[in-house]
Amino acid sequence: MLNTSKKSDISREKSAELYKKAKQYFPGGVNSPVRAFKSVYGTPLFIERGDGCFIWDADGNQFIDFCCSWGPLILGHNHAKIREKVTQTLERGLSFGAPTALENELAELILEHNKYLEKIRFVSSGTEAVMSAIRLARGYTGRDKIIKFEGCYHGHSDSLLVKAGSGLVTFGETSSAGVPKSFADETIVIPLNDRKAVETAFTQFNRQIAAVIIEGVPANNGLLIQEEAYIHFLRDITKQNKALLIFDEVITGFRMGFEGAAAHYGVQPDIITYGKIIGGGMPVGAYGASAELMGHISPDGGVYQAGTLSGNPVAMAAGIAQLTELRSNNFYKNLNTKAEEFVVAIQEFVAAKNYTFKVFHIGSIFWFAFTNQENIRAARDIDHSSMDYYKVFHRELLNRGVYLGPSGYEVGFISAAHNKVELEKAQQAIFESLEVVFG
Ligand SMILES: *Cc1c(COP(=O)(O)O)cnc(C)c1O
Repeated sequence: MLNTSKKSDISREKSAELYKKAKQYFPGGVNSPVRAFKSVYGTPLFIERGDGCFIWDADGNQFIDFCCSWGPLILGHNHAKIREKVTQTLERGLSFGAPTALENELAELILEHNKYLEKIRFVSSGTEAVMSAIRLARGYTGRDKIIKFEGCYHGHSDSLLVKAGSGLVTFGETSSAGVPKSFADETIVIPLNDRKAVETAFTQFNRQIAAVIIEGVPANNGLLIQEEAYIHFLRDITKQNKALLIFDEVITGFRMGFEGAAAHYGVQPDIITYGKIIGGGMPVGAYGASAELMGHISPDGGVYQAGTLSGNPVAMAAGIAQLTELRSNNFYKNLNTKAEEFVVAIQEFVAAKNYTFKVFHIGSIFWFAFTNQENIRAARDIDHSSMDYYKVFHRELLNRGVYLGPSGYEVGFISAAHNKVELEKAQQAIFESLEVVFG
Protein backbone atom coordinates (compact mmCIF):
# COMPACT_ATOMS: atom_id res chain seq x y z
CA MET A 1 0.00 0.00 0.00
CA LEU A 2 2.40 2.55 -1.26
CA ASN A 3 1.15 6.07 -0.73
CA THR A 4 2.29 8.34 -3.54
CA SER A 5 0.23 11.38 -2.58
CA LYS A 6 2.30 14.49 -2.86
CA LYS A 7 2.89 17.22 -0.33
CA SER A 8 4.24 20.61 -1.27
CA ASP A 9 7.58 20.15 -2.99
CA ILE A 10 10.64 22.34 -2.50
CA SER A 11 11.31 24.85 -5.22
CA ARG A 12 13.58 23.50 -7.96
CA GLU A 13 13.18 26.37 -10.43
CA LYS A 14 16.84 27.35 -10.66
CA SER A 15 17.97 23.73 -10.76
CA ALA A 16 15.45 23.07 -13.52
CA GLU A 17 16.80 26.00 -15.54
CA LEU A 18 20.37 24.82 -15.12
CA TYR A 19 19.37 21.28 -16.03
CA LYS A 20 17.71 22.49 -19.19
CA LYS A 21 20.97 24.14 -20.24
CA ALA A 22 23.04 21.18 -19.15
CA LYS A 23 21.01 18.93 -21.41
CA GLN A 24 22.20 20.96 -24.37
CA TYR A 25 25.81 20.34 -23.37
CA PHE A 26 25.99 16.86 -21.87
CA PRO A 27 24.36 13.53 -22.63
CA GLY A 28 21.44 13.36 -20.22
CA GLY A 29 22.50 16.74 -18.87
CA VAL A 30 25.16 15.20 -16.60
CA ASN A 31 28.75 14.04 -16.47
CA SER A 32 27.98 10.84 -14.59
CA PRO A 33 24.68 8.99 -15.19
CA VAL A 34 23.23 8.51 -11.67
CA ARG A 35 23.22 12.30 -11.17
CA ALA A 36 20.37 12.62 -13.67
CA PHE A 37 17.79 11.55 -11.02
CA LYS A 38 16.30 8.96 -13.41
CA SER A 39 15.31 6.64 -10.56
CA VAL A 40 13.68 9.29 -8.37
CA TYR A 41 11.26 12.19 -8.75
CA GLY A 42 11.98 15.57 -10.19
CA THR A 43 14.83 17.41 -11.76
CA PRO A 44 18.38 16.88 -10.43
CA LEU A 45 19.43 19.41 -7.82
CA PHE A 46 22.34 21.60 -8.83
CA ILE A 47 24.52 22.09 -5.79
CA GLU A 48 26.02 25.47 -5.09
CA ARG A 49 28.05 24.86 -1.98
CA GLY A 50 28.64 22.61 0.99
CA ASP A 51 29.76 23.10 4.55
CA GLY A 52 30.04 20.48 7.28
CA CYS A 53 27.19 18.02 6.80
CA PHE A 54 25.13 20.51 4.79
CA ILE A 55 24.75 21.29 1.10
CA TRP A 56 22.78 24.09 -0.55
CA ASP A 57 21.27 23.90 -4.01
CA ALA A 58 20.84 26.64 -6.61
CA ASP A 59 17.38 27.49 -5.23
CA GLY A 60 18.79 28.05 -1.77
CA ASN A 61 17.38 24.84 -0.27
CA GLN A 62 19.50 23.43 2.53
CA PHE A 63 19.99 19.70 3.05
CA ILE A 64 21.70 17.41 5.51
CA ASP A 65 23.83 15.45 3.06
CA PHE A 66 24.21 11.66 3.37
CA CYS A 67 25.66 11.21 -0.12
CA CYS A 68 28.90 13.02 0.78
CA SER A 69 30.02 13.06 -2.86
CA TRP A 70 29.49 9.26 -2.89
CA GLY A 71 31.79 8.65 0.02
CA PRO A 72 34.97 10.73 -0.21
CA LEU A 73 33.87 13.40 2.28
CA ILE A 74 34.35 11.50 5.53
CA LEU A 75 35.12 14.83 7.26
CA GLY A 76 32.15 16.60 5.68
CA HIS A 77 32.17 19.46 3.20
CA ASN A 78 34.67 22.31 3.12
CA HIS A 79 36.79 21.06 6.01
CA ALA A 80 39.12 23.83 7.22
CA LYS A 81 42.27 21.68 7.36
CA ILE A 82 41.81 20.38 3.81
CA ARG A 83 40.94 23.82 2.47
CA GLU A 84 44.05 25.34 4.05
CA LYS A 85 46.42 22.65 2.79
CA VAL A 86 44.95 22.80 -0.72
CA THR A 87 45.13 26.60 -0.82
CA GLN A 88 48.72 26.60 0.38
CA THR A 89 49.68 24.05 -2.26
CA LEU A 90 47.93 25.59 -5.24
CA GLU A 91 49.73 28.88 -4.71
CA ARG A 92 52.91 27.10 -5.88
CA GLY A 93 51.45 25.81 -9.14
CA LEU A 94 48.90 23.20 -10.08
CA SER A 95 50.87 20.46 -11.79
CA PHE A 96 54.44 19.68 -12.82
CA GLY A 97 54.43 16.20 -14.31
CA ALA A 98 57.51 15.58 -12.18
CA PRO A 99 57.85 14.03 -8.73
CA THR A 100 56.99 16.15 -5.69
CA ALA A 101 57.57 15.64 -1.96
CA LEU A 102 53.81 15.60 -1.45
CA GLU A 103 53.55 12.19 -3.13
CA ASN A 104 56.11 10.81 -0.66
CA GLU A 105 54.21 12.39 2.20
CA LEU A 106 50.88 10.80 1.29
CA ALA A 107 52.50 7.43 0.54
CA GLU A 108 54.32 7.47 3.86
CA LEU A 109 51.15 8.33 5.74
CA ILE A 110 49.41 5.36 4.14
CA LEU A 111 52.17 2.75 4.11
CA GLU A 112 53.41 3.40 7.65
CA HIS A 113 49.97 2.69 9.02
CA ASN A 114 48.83 -0.13 6.78
CA LYS A 115 50.41 -3.53 7.22
CA TYR A 116 48.64 -4.90 4.15
CA LEU A 117 50.70 -2.87 1.65
CA GLU A 118 54.36 -2.30 0.92
CA LYS A 119 54.22 -0.15 -2.20
CA ILE A 120 51.58 1.99 -3.81
CA ARG A 121 50.97 3.82 -7.11
CA PHE A 122 48.77 6.91 -7.30
CA VAL A 123 46.32 7.37 -10.18
CA SER A 124 43.41 9.77 -10.71
CA SER A 125 40.25 7.72 -10.12
CA GLY A 126 38.92 4.50 -8.68
CA THR A 127 38.24 3.19 -12.18
CA GLU A 128 41.86 3.70 -13.12
CA ALA A 129 43.09 2.06 -9.92
CA VAL A 130 41.03 -1.11 -10.52
CA MET A 131 41.83 -1.24 -14.23
CA SER A 132 45.54 -1.09 -13.38
CA ALA A 133 45.21 -3.69 -10.60
CA ILE A 134 43.61 -6.10 -13.08
CA ARG A 135 46.42 -5.51 -15.56
CA LEU A 136 48.97 -6.15 -12.82
CA ALA A 137 47.23 -9.39 -11.86
CA ARG A 138 47.22 -10.54 -15.47
CA GLY A 139 50.79 -9.46 -16.06
CA TYR A 140 52.01 -11.15 -12.90
CA THR A 141 50.18 -14.47 -13.32
CA GLY A 142 50.37 -14.67 -17.10
CA ARG A 143 46.66 -15.57 -17.07
CA ASP A 144 43.76 -13.65 -18.65
CA LYS A 145 40.50 -14.42 -16.87
CA ILE A 146 39.12 -12.69 -13.83
CA ILE A 147 36.24 -13.57 -11.55
CA LYS A 148 33.96 -10.77 -10.43
CA PHE A 149 30.74 -10.86 -8.44
CA GLU A 150 27.29 -9.89 -9.52
CA GLY A 151 26.36 -6.63 -7.79
CA CYS A 152 29.94 -5.45 -7.26
CA TYR A 153 30.93 -2.27 -9.08
CA HIS A 154 34.55 -1.66 -9.92
CA GLY A 155 34.42 1.40 -12.15
CA HIS A 156 33.71 1.59 -15.85
CA SER A 157 36.69 -0.11 -17.50
CA ASP A 158 35.84 -2.60 -20.27
CA SER A 159 36.72 -5.82 -18.41
CA LEU A 160 34.43 -4.88 -15.55
CA LEU A 161 31.33 -3.68 -17.37
CA VAL A 162 30.20 -7.25 -17.51
CA LYS A 163 27.14 -8.88 -15.98
CA ALA A 164 26.25 -12.47 -15.30
CA GLY A 165 25.21 -14.59 -18.24
CA SER A 166 22.71 -17.41 -17.87
CA GLY A 167 23.79 -20.46 -15.92
CA LEU A 168 25.75 -20.73 -12.70
CA VAL A 169 29.23 -20.21 -14.08
CA THR A 170 29.45 -18.76 -17.54
CA PHE A 171 31.26 -16.08 -19.39
CA GLY A 172 29.86 -12.69 -18.63
CA GLU A 173 27.79 -10.59 -20.96
CA THR A 174 28.71 -6.97 -21.54
CA SER A 175 26.62 -4.57 -19.49
CA SER A 176 27.41 -1.64 -21.78
CA ALA A 177 27.30 -1.15 -25.50
CA GLY A 178 30.79 -0.73 -26.86
CA VAL A 179 32.44 -3.43 -24.77
CA PRO A 180 33.71 -6.15 -27.14
CA LYS A 181 32.31 -9.60 -26.48
CA SER A 182 35.86 -10.95 -26.49
CA PHE A 183 36.58 -8.76 -23.43
CA ALA A 184 33.51 -10.01 -21.63
CA ASP A 185 34.69 -13.55 -22.33
CA GLU A 186 37.63 -12.93 -20.03
CA THR A 187 35.39 -12.01 -17.10
CA ILE A 188 33.49 -14.67 -15.19
CA VAL A 189 30.60 -13.24 -13.21
CA ILE A 190 29.16 -15.22 -10.31
CA PRO A 191 26.79 -14.51 -7.42
CA LEU A 192 28.11 -13.35 -4.06
CA ASN A 193 27.85 -15.59 -1.00
CA ASP A 194 27.95 -18.76 -3.10
CA ARG A 195 30.99 -20.94 -2.47
CA LYS A 196 29.92 -23.56 -4.95
CA ALA A 197 29.95 -21.04 -7.81
CA VAL A 198 33.53 -20.03 -6.98
CA GLU A 199 34.63 -23.67 -6.76
CA THR A 200 32.95 -24.51 -10.05
CA ALA A 201 34.59 -21.55 -11.76
CA PHE A 202 38.01 -22.63 -10.55
CA THR A 203 37.40 -26.21 -11.65
CA GLN A 204 36.19 -25.12 -15.06
CA PHE A 205 38.80 -22.44 -15.75
CA ASN A 206 41.68 -23.60 -13.61
CA ARG A 207 45.06 -22.08 -14.54
CA GLN A 208 43.30 -19.41 -16.58
CA ILE A 209 42.12 -17.29 -13.66
CA ALA A 210 44.41 -14.39 -12.87
CA ALA A 211 42.38 -12.93 -10.03
CA VAL A 212 39.19 -12.78 -8.04
CA ILE A 213 38.05 -9.23 -7.39
CA ILE A 214 35.58 -8.24 -4.68
CA GLU A 215 34.60 -4.97 -3.03
CA GLY A 216 35.85 -4.74 0.56
CA VAL A 217 32.17 -4.71 1.45
CA PRO A 218 29.95 -4.67 -1.63
CA ALA A 219 28.28 -1.26 -1.38
CA ASN A 220 27.34 -0.27 -4.91
CA ASN A 221 24.20 -2.35 -5.30
CA GLY A 222 22.69 -2.12 -1.89
CA LEU A 223 24.95 -3.01 1.01
CA LEU A 224 25.66 -6.70 0.61
CA ILE A 225 27.48 -7.57 3.81
CA GLN A 226 29.38 -10.85 3.40
CA GLU A 227 30.15 -13.35 6.11
CA GLU A 228 33.74 -13.23 7.29
CA ALA A 229 34.18 -16.96 6.69
CA TYR A 230 33.27 -16.45 3.03
CA ILE A 231 36.02 -13.85 2.59
CA HIS A 232 38.52 -16.24 4.19
CA PHE A 233 37.26 -18.92 1.81
CA LEU A 234 38.02 -16.61 -1.14
CA ARG A 235 41.50 -16.05 0.25
CA ASP A 236 42.08 -19.80 0.55
CA ILE A 237 40.73 -20.84 -2.83
CA THR A 238 42.66 -18.14 -4.70
CA LYS A 239 45.87 -19.15 -2.94
CA GLN A 240 45.31 -22.84 -3.74
CA ASN A 241 44.82 -21.99 -7.40
CA LYS A 242 47.68 -19.48 -7.58
CA ALA A 243 45.28 -16.72 -8.50
CA LEU A 244 45.41 -13.30 -6.87
CA LEU A 245 42.79 -11.84 -4.56
CA ILE A 246 42.02 -8.18 -5.24
CA PHE A 247 40.16 -6.13 -2.65
CA ASP A 248 38.52 -3.15 -4.30
CA GLU A 249 38.52 -0.81 -1.33
CA VAL A 250 37.54 2.32 -3.23
CA ILE A 251 34.65 2.75 -0.77
CA THR A 252 35.85 0.78 2.27
CA GLY A 253 39.45 2.03 2.26
CA PHE A 254 39.87 4.59 5.10
CA ARG A 255 36.12 4.25 5.75
CA MET A 256 36.13 1.01 7.73
CA GLY A 257 39.20 2.08 9.64
CA PHE A 258 42.51 3.24 8.26
CA GLU A 259 43.38 -0.25 7.03
CA GLY A 260 39.95 -0.78 5.54
CA ALA A 261 38.21 -4.09 4.97
CA ALA A 262 41.51 -6.02 4.92
CA ALA A 263 41.94 -5.30 8.63
CA HIS A 264 38.23 -5.74 9.30
CA TYR A 265 38.43 -9.37 8.14
CA GLY A 266 42.08 -9.91 9.01
CA VAL A 267 42.68 -11.01 5.43
CA GLN A 268 45.78 -10.16 3.38
CA PRO A 269 44.68 -9.47 -0.21
CA ASP A 270 47.28 -9.55 -2.97
CA ILE A 271 46.31 -6.17 -4.40
CA ILE A 272 44.22 -3.40 -2.84
CA THR A 273 42.66 -0.50 -4.72
CA TYR A 274 41.65 2.86 -3.27
CA GLY A 275 39.79 5.94 -4.40
CA LYS A 276 37.16 8.27 -2.93
CA ILE A 277 38.37 9.08 0.65
CA ILE A 278 42.06 8.88 -0.29
CA GLY A 279 41.80 12.16 -2.24
CA GLY A 280 39.88 14.21 0.33
CA GLY A 281 37.40 15.22 -2.39
CA MET A 282 40.00 15.60 -5.17
CA PRO A 283 40.39 13.04 -7.98
CA VAL A 284 42.80 10.45 -6.57
CA GLY A 285 42.93 6.68 -6.80
CA ALA A 286 45.65 4.23 -5.86
CA TYR A 287 46.58 0.59 -5.98
CA GLY A 288 49.06 -1.16 -3.79
CA ALA A 289 50.52 -4.57 -3.02
CA SER A 290 53.72 -6.24 -1.80
CA ALA A 291 57.00 -4.76 -3.01
CA GLU A 292 57.51 -7.93 -5.05
CA LEU A 293 54.21 -7.60 -6.90
CA MET A 294 54.56 -3.85 -7.40
CA GLY A 295 57.99 -4.56 -8.87
CA HIS A 296 56.12 -5.71 -11.98
CA ILE A 297 54.82 -2.18 -12.63
CA SER A 298 56.68 0.05 -15.07
CA PRO A 299 59.37 1.36 -15.01
CA ASP A 300 60.59 -1.48 -12.71
CA GLY A 301 58.62 -4.16 -14.52
CA GLY A 302 56.76 -4.97 -17.69
CA VAL A 303 53.22 -3.95 -16.71
CA TYR A 304 52.71 -0.49 -18.20
CA GLN A 305 50.72 2.15 -16.36
CA ALA A 306 51.10 5.93 -16.40
CA GLY A 307 49.26 9.23 -15.89
CA THR A 308 49.85 12.87 -16.85
CA LEU A 309 48.18 14.12 -13.68
CA SER A 310 48.99 11.12 -11.43
CA GLY A 311 50.14 12.26 -8.00
CA ASN A 312 48.91 15.77 -8.73
CA PRO A 313 50.21 18.03 -5.94
CA VAL A 314 46.90 19.71 -5.12
CA ALA A 315 45.13 16.36 -5.00
CA MET A 316 47.92 14.89 -2.84
CA ALA A 317 47.59 17.87 -0.49
CA ALA A 318 43.88 17.21 -0.01
CA GLY A 319 44.58 13.53 0.64
CA ILE A 320 47.31 14.29 3.16
CA ALA A 321 45.12 16.73 5.07
CA GLN A 322 42.19 14.33 5.18
CA LEU A 323 44.10 11.16 6.08
CA THR A 324 45.99 13.05 8.79
CA GLU A 325 42.67 13.83 10.47
CA LEU A 326 41.66 10.17 10.25
CA ARG A 327 44.77 9.24 12.25
CA SER A 328 43.55 11.22 15.26
CA ASN A 329 42.58 9.33 18.42
CA ASN A 330 39.31 7.44 18.32
CA PHE A 331 38.31 8.93 14.98
CA TYR A 332 36.66 5.74 13.73
CA LYS A 333 35.31 4.74 17.12
CA ASN A 334 33.48 8.06 17.46
CA LEU A 335 32.21 8.03 13.89
CA ASN A 336 30.96 4.45 14.10
CA THR A 337 29.29 5.00 17.47
CA LYS A 338 27.40 7.96 16.04
CA ALA A 339 26.35 5.91 13.02
CA GLU A 340 25.23 3.01 15.21
CA GLU A 341 23.03 5.29 17.34
CA PHE A 342 21.51 6.84 14.24
CA VAL A 343 20.66 3.46 12.74
CA VAL A 344 19.36 1.91 15.96
CA ALA A 345 16.93 4.80 16.54
CA ILE A 346 15.52 4.29 13.04
CA GLN A 347 15.28 0.50 13.51
CA GLU A 348 13.36 1.01 16.75
CA PHE A 349 10.91 3.39 15.11
CA VAL A 350 10.37 1.00 12.20
CA ALA A 351 9.89 -2.00 14.49
CA ALA A 352 7.28 -0.15 16.55
CA LYS A 353 5.42 0.76 13.35
CA ASN A 354 5.86 -2.65 11.79
CA TYR A 355 7.06 -1.14 8.52
CA THR A 356 8.65 -3.22 5.78
CA PHE A 357 11.91 -1.35 6.07
CA LYS A 358 15.39 -2.11 7.25
CA VAL A 359 18.65 -0.26 7.66
CA PHE A 360 21.67 -2.39 6.81
CA HIS A 361 24.89 -0.86 8.03
CA ILE A 362 28.53 -1.44 8.70
CA GLY A 363 30.60 1.27 10.34
CA SER A 364 29.49 4.60 8.88
CA ILE A 365 28.00 3.11 5.68
CA PHE A 366 24.25 2.49 5.67
CA TRP A 367 21.62 1.30 3.23
CA PHE A 368 17.89 1.98 3.51
CA ALA A 369 16.04 -1.04 2.14
CA PHE A 370 12.31 -1.58 1.87
CA THR A 371 12.42 -5.21 2.90
CA ASN A 372 11.73 -7.62 5.75
CA GLN A 373 14.64 -9.90 4.89
CA GLU A 374 17.01 -10.43 7.79
CA ASN A 375 20.07 -10.48 5.52
CA ILE A 376 20.70 -9.58 1.91
CA ARG A 377 24.04 -10.91 0.76
CA ALA A 378 23.60 -11.30 -3.00
CA ALA A 379 22.37 -8.88 -5.66
CA ARG A 380 19.66 -11.30 -6.78
CA ASP A 381 18.06 -11.17 -3.32
CA ILE A 382 17.11 -7.51 -3.74
CA ASP A 383 13.45 -7.03 -4.57
CA HIS A 384 13.46 -4.57 -7.47
CA SER A 385 9.85 -3.52 -6.91
CA SER A 386 10.87 -2.16 -3.50
CA MET A 387 12.53 0.70 -5.36
CA ASP A 388 9.09 2.27 -5.94
CA TYR A 389 9.00 2.90 -2.21
CA TYR A 390 12.45 4.42 -2.25
CA LYS A 391 11.37 6.88 -4.91
CA VAL A 392 8.65 8.36 -2.70
CA PHE A 393 10.91 8.21 0.35
CA HIS A 394 13.61 10.13 -1.50
CA ARG A 395 11.24 12.90 -2.57
CA GLU A 396 9.76 13.24 0.91
CA LEU A 397 13.24 13.45 2.42
CA LEU A 398 14.27 16.19 0.02
CA ASN A 399 11.13 18.07 1.00
CA ARG A 400 12.27 17.75 4.63
CA GLY A 401 15.87 18.84 4.03
CA VAL A 402 17.63 15.48 3.80
CA TYR A 403 19.69 14.53 0.74
CA LEU A 404 20.26 10.86 -0.12
CA GLY A 405 21.76 9.42 -3.30
CA PRO A 406 19.12 9.45 -6.08
CA SER A 407 18.74 5.66 -6.27
CA GLY A 408 17.57 3.02 -3.83
CA TYR A 409 20.56 0.85 -4.75
CA GLU A 410 22.97 3.44 -3.37
CA VAL A 411 24.29 3.47 0.16
CA GLY A 412 24.56 6.53 2.41
CA PHE A 413 27.51 7.79 4.40
CA ILE A 414 27.81 9.47 7.77
CA SER A 415 30.70 11.90 8.14
CA ALA A 416 32.49 13.29 11.16
CA ALA A 417 30.63 16.55 10.46
CA HIS A 418 27.21 14.99 11.12
CA ASN A 419 26.58 16.05 14.68
CA LYS A 420 23.97 14.81 17.12
CA VAL A 421 21.63 17.72 16.44
CA GLU A 422 21.61 17.18 12.68
CA LEU A 423 21.36 13.42 12.98
CA GLU A 424 18.30 13.82 15.20
CA LYS A 425 16.78 16.24 12.70
CA ALA A 426 17.45 13.76 9.93
CA GLN A 427 15.88 10.97 11.98
CA GLN A 428 12.74 13.03 12.44
CA ALA A 429 12.60 13.65 8.68
CA ILE A 430 13.08 9.94 8.05
CA PHE A 431 10.24 9.04 10.44
CA GLU A 432 7.88 11.52 8.77
CA SER A 433 8.86 10.39 5.29
CA LEU A 434 8.28 6.74 6.17
CA GLU A 435 4.87 7.71 7.47
CA VAL A 436 4.10 9.26 4.10
CA VAL A 437 5.47 6.24 2.22
CA PHE A 438 3.39 3.80 4.23
CA GLY A 439 0.55 6.35 4.73
C1 LIG B 1 33.35 4.42 -6.94
C2 LIG B 1 33.94 3.09 -7.13
C3 LIG B 1 34.82 2.79 -8.18
C4 LIG B 1 35.09 3.77 -9.29
O1 LIG B 1 35.74 4.90 -8.83
P1 LIG B 1 35.67 6.25 -9.74
O2 LIG B 1 36.52 7.20 -8.98
O3 LIG B 1 34.23 6.61 -9.81
O4 LIG B 1 36.23 5.89 -11.05
C5 LIG B 1 35.42 1.55 -8.21
N1 LIG B 1 35.18 0.64 -7.26
C6 LIG B 1 34.35 0.87 -6.23
C7 LIG B 1 34.14 -0.17 -5.19
C8 LIG B 1 33.68 2.10 -6.15
O5 LIG B 1 32.82 2.31 -5.16
